[in-house]
Amino acid sequence: MKYKAWLSKKIEKTGKILCEACHQACVLSEGEYGTCGVRFVENGELILSVYGKVAALHIDPIEKKPLFHFLPNSKSLSLGTVGCNFSCKFCQNASISQYPKERNHNIFGDDLMPNDIVNLALEYKTKSISYTYNEPAVFFEYAYDTAKLAHEKGLKNIFVTSGYETHKAIDTMGSYLDAMNIDIKAFSDDFYKNISGAKLKPVLDTVEYSYKKGIWVEITTLIIPTLNDSSEELEKIANFIASISLDMPWHISAFHPQYKMLDIPRTPHSTLIKAYEIGKKAGLNYVYIGNVLDEDRSSTYCPNCKKKIIDRSGYIGEIVQNHLIESKCPYCQTKIAGVL
Ligand code: SF4
Repeated sequence: MKYKAWLSKKIEKTGKILCEACHQACVLSEGEYGTCGVRFVENGELILSVYGKVAALHIDPIEKKPLFHFLPNSKSLSLGTVGCNFSCKFCQNASISQYPKERNHNIFGDDLMPNDIVNLALEYKTKSISYTYNEPAVFFEYAYDTAKLAHEKGLKNIFVTSGYETHKAIDTMGSYLDAMNIDIKAFSDDFYKNISGAKLKPVLDTVEYSYKKGIWVEITTLIIPTLNDSSEELEKIANFIASISLDMPWHISAFHPQYKMLDIPRTPHSTLIKAYEIGKKAGLNYVYIGNVLDEDRSSTYCPNCKKKIIDRSGYIGEIVQNHLIESKCPYCQTKIAGVL
């Protein structure tokens, strides 16, 4: 379904259209597509080609997003469309994210309007809807309409994102957006430019801006051997998160060879442990290793008395036992951060 991508404006001098959904800030002429491959200009208006077209839909444990401090042990109706504003060479969802760019702007997906999605979430008794698998900023208007309806039905909304949303996009989502997992993929512009087709600074800005808006934010970093795994770079990421909030969880995730990076080996467990220790040294209260089996380092500890308060297991850190009592440590009554 073609739908007006209203998060955009006409540049009067040139007649071109500026897309205001993400920091790629595409300025497009008639017939031209943005970097994401799903927003284009037709008859002087920006059009979203994937409105109502769901390319991937699952009911996931919320821990898989990953979000460990937001409605733990709940299910989240998770969906994505095709298209993405990034072009990460390690993308695990490249078959949908890069599809329009690699297939002459073709799209695919099941027909689901916002009310269909919300009804599915209600039918399957999920507590939230996650806009994930590809970058939600590129299907902003579709996500917005769904999120608004979801809130009316008492469901929460989650963006799993590369963090390229404009302030205007975040402001427009306003109180409909409850939580975000934002990737900080590296701490160098070279990595962002050469591996992902983006820049670092807007991502850091989104982390800070979203946090200040009161959205619950958790961070994920996929550690890729030789590309972003130096102690120096990991320290920069950890210190940046610590400068925003010591209570902002940091998920350190293991890389597996994917898409255009089949020649790089899996992340050694020792590297993940190194990153974990760096996060702890930076003062972060909640650091987690994911995508490998490491029960101790995927569990939650009280930042005050240091006792284990949520036991997790498996590759995604699903909860085995939650010891919290009314969001507090059962041993020393310290309040644990998040929406618990
Ligand atoms: S959402 Fe797409 S069209 Fe809009 S600025 Fe980002 S990449 Fe460009």
